[in-house]
Amino acid sequence: CGIVAYVGPKDAAPILLEGLQRLEYRGYDSAGLAVVNGKSLKMRKVKGRVADLAEAVPARFKGACGIGHTRWATHGVPSDVNAHPHLDHEQRIAVVHNGIIENADALRQRLEGEGVTFESETDTEVLCHLIARTVKETDSLDDAVRRALKSVVGTYGIAVIDAQRPGEIVVARNGSPIVLGIGEKEMFAASDVAALVRYTRQVVHLEDGELAVLRADGFHTFTSDARETAKEPFTVDWDT
Ligand code: GLU
Repeated sequence: CGIVAYVGPKDAAPILLEGLQRLEYRGYDSAGLAVVNGKSLKMRKVKGRVADLAEAVPARFKGACGIGHTRWATHGVPSDVNAHPHLDHEQRIAVVHNGIIENADALRQRLEGEGVTFESETDTEVLCHLIARTVKETDSLDDAVRRALKSVVGTYGIAVIDAQRPGEIVVARNGSPIVLGIGEKEMFAASDVAALVRYTRQVVHLEDGELAVLRADGFHTFTSDARETAKEPFTVDWDT
């Protein structure tokens, strides 16, 4: 339902929680976030309100690169386990997702056939296992996400972090909006500009089939066949 992502010099968790609060008007049944801390992921997710998530996140939840989500369940009941982010077994890759993966059952069967066990009932969980597997064949997270998405049919806005790449977020869009926010030595992404306007007015909208990699010092965008795209940021006019 709602996505927020941050990479920069500050702790991500308070920024993610604030952004998720601004997306509450969309409606949701659970909320969660994950940050990269050192070379590991920290994650909290709960069925319930963003305020419940805020209570579940300890005060010292350090990590300057993170992703957050509010979920509106389509596959699997609202529950702590089905809430996003979803992680792979090594707890290396975390994914938040808006939309519906139409071939999730087939992908799940294939992955289970290869020994992957699933924790949740969501369609989303296939994404983190696919990406976790692909990232081992390439030393680039954006290339792994791009290649993993080639076997996916459906709608998605996603944000992905990798414990091995503490300063990087990869986002992708197909039928579910993703907007990038450009800050001073920090970058944001969200499913809705409302989550960003407190921090920046300089935004870039992704097109369907487009991906982006964000780092504190900037971003680049590319297509599903790895061609770089040139995006012109524009300034949003918004009264907060
Ligand atoms: N289909 C996913 C799920 O049920 C994402 C739902 C959403 O867009 O929040 O978990």
